[in-house]
Amino acid sequence: MPARQQEIHLDPIAYVNGSFVPLSDAKVSILDRGFLFADGIYEVAAVLDGKLVDNASHLARLERSVGEIALKLPETVARIQEIQKELVARNKLVSGLVYLEVTRGADKARDFAFPKGDVRPTLIMFTSEKEIVDAPSARTGINVITVPDIRWARRDIKSVALLAQVLAKQAAAEAGASEAWMIEDGFVTEGGSSSAFILTQDDVIVTRQNSNAILPGCTRKAVVALAEERQLRVEERPFTVTEALAAKEAFITSASVFVQPVVAIDGNKVANGKPGPVARRLREIYVDFAKATAV
Ligand code: PLP
Repeated sequence: MPARQQEIHLDPIAYVNGSFVPLSDAKVSILDRGFLFADGIYEVAAVLDGKLVDNASHLARLERSVGEIALKLPETVARIQEIQKELVARNKLVSGLVYLEVTRGADKARDFAFPKGDVRPTLIMFTSEKEIVDAPSARTGINVITVPDIRWARRDIKSVALLAQVLAKQAAAEAGASEAWMIEDGFVTEGGSSSAFILTQDDVIVTRQNSNAILPGCTRKAVVALAEERQLRVEERPFTVTEALAAKEAFITSASVFVQPVVAIDGNKVANGKPGPVARRLREIYVDFAKATAV
């Protein structure tokens, strides 16, 4: 049934508040607080071989994020995972991402304070196809630029308020780069949508420690644990761009790229400007972990 298959491809199925609907029909109210105030939380999990990668970690972070803003999930996390799986199955998604967002719902009027009545939080999900394991940029490495980190003080919450990252990543795109590293007080906080790492000349993997200054990356957490299990030295501390440019390697991690080498920062090469062996090895290790533990 090629026509039907094509139809599925062109108009994937999304999930909106209890219903599976074609993406083009998936709508929420203009009074939704996610739309009006960015009063919402999101998560992105990778899909490999039709299964969710490290999803327990993403759901744990979702629970933490909603807890930090006193937002009650409209479904249990067990049910949320069932919906994610059903959406993956309905879209016949083999490799890609599941995006989910929960907001404080739509009240009858625009009011900053939380709704007083019984307003149900909005829960939406959609999928996108993406070749993650064989991504060309994993072989070539990526260029990053640096921008000032102009975000708010609670970056540990995975909030949908992403305007600073929109501007940072647009600046990167205009400069022909794939990611922006955000700088605060002279140190790299993280990438616009990724965690930042370097490998020092002494073979120490360095990434900033978790705090309110960065999002606690799920991929970061897994990569740090996998590296430590293999007796690689990891130091969780801030680093500067000067240190990154003097490093043996640099790389980023995220659910949507796994581990990706950084070969230039603001047009300056990192080492010889080619992906290094440690980033390559960590990527292989993470892919094995992802495949082995996906649900
Ligand atoms: N840091 C920021 C600001 C992000 O937006 C993301 C992912 O979107 C990450 C780090 C990486 O997190 P994860 O590995 O959980 O995808």
